[in-house]
Amino acid sequence: MLIIGFESSCDETGVAVACTERGLLAHALHSQVAMHRDYGGVVPELASRDHIRRIVPLTRQVLDEAGVRADALDAVAYTAGPGLAGALLVGAGFARAFAWARDLPAIPIHHLEGHLLSPLLAEEAPAFPFVALLVSGGHTQLMRVDGVGRYELLGETLDDAAGEAFDKSAKLLGLGYPGGPELSRLAERGDPHAHALPRPMLHSGDLDFSFSGLKTAVLTRMRALQDAGRAADPAARADLAASTEAAIVDVLAAKSLQALRRTGLKTLVVAGGVGANRHLRARLAQALAALGGRAYFPPLHLCTDNGAMIAWAAVLRARAGLVDLPSLRGDAAFAVRPRWDLQDVCVA
Ligand code: ATP
Ligand code: MG
Ligand code: FE
Repeated sequence: MLIIGFESSCDETGVAVACTERGLLAHALHSQVAMHRDYGGVVPELASRDHIRRIVPLTRQVLDEAGVRADALDAVAYTAGPGLAGALLVGAGFARAFAWARDLPAIPIHHLEGHLLSPLLAEEAPAFPFVALLVSGGHTQLMRVDGVGRYELLGETLDDAAGEAFDKSAKLLGLGYPGGPELSRLAERGDPHAHALPRPMLHSGDLDFSFSGLKTAVLTRMRALQDAGRAADPAARADLAASTEAAIVDVLAAKSLQALRRTGLKTLVVAGGVGANRHLRARLAQALAALGGRAYFPPLHLCTDNGAMIAWAAVLRARAGLVDLPSLRGDAAFAVRPRWDLQDVCVA
């Protein structure tokens, strides 16, 4: 079965074609990062308009690269939420129309399920069950994953997401958008022990996170640097960046290990944009190896938003018998869910 998948929940337009037998055939992505950079964050209306501009050419490109004709497709998958309402509507509207015109089933996919299952796109894919650390721009969650559609939330952030902590700290450091990769780059030249920043909730006894206090601590340190006339000093800024990164990575790693201990599992899967962080990857790979287990990461280019993970989630749901294709056919009406709990797509 051939499935085309569309992602448009935020500032990336992603399209991909996947096959239930042959895996991912092609994917194409347009990131709007450059467009939003001047504003220091995503401007929803600009995002929606750009999705409209990009989605048709990207669809043509992907079908071309996959060597697949549109009339050979068997189903259409799209991100139905959570995300920016206007941005979601573009992808959902296009996907539904594309499906309806060809009398194909249209499969709504939960964006986080896409992130969560993206490590299964790697050549060496993890086997169920595993613990998943989902660390993206809007979410920080630890989950027990027993199979497709079988997700149990173990803990999550009470305030900012890990990606937000990176982005907001980067902004305080005067870095560009998105802040995560920039902060990480600056941190390479810094000393992670220069500032003893808080590790919020490290010993809270549960698997929840909190990152808003860290942001305040970074602000305080930055003000102190300003007062000392060192705010522009590259070494001082690198030290603060490295200390911030170390604090975030420490908490994410410690809580992931606690989740493994609690579940008795030895497989950890990391998904979401912060999963691209080199220090986090190295730390978790090493910790899991020491446990006699293993950490899995999505291929770097599939950590942040993309269409491949949406097409792939649909493939896995179809293979698991979790989509009733006939009932998803012939309906041009559609809705999106800007807020949507992952539990809603779990099997009972
Ligand atoms: P969500 O999926 O929760 O709706 P999102 O789709 O915006 O949010 P992603 O695209 O998965 O999130 O990830 C984006 C986040 O990842 C940003 O906060 C970005 O700063 C962060 N990020 C990307 N690369 C790195 C890196 N190397 N180090 C740290 N953070 C990073
Ligand atoms: Mg993005
Ligand atoms: Fe995302």
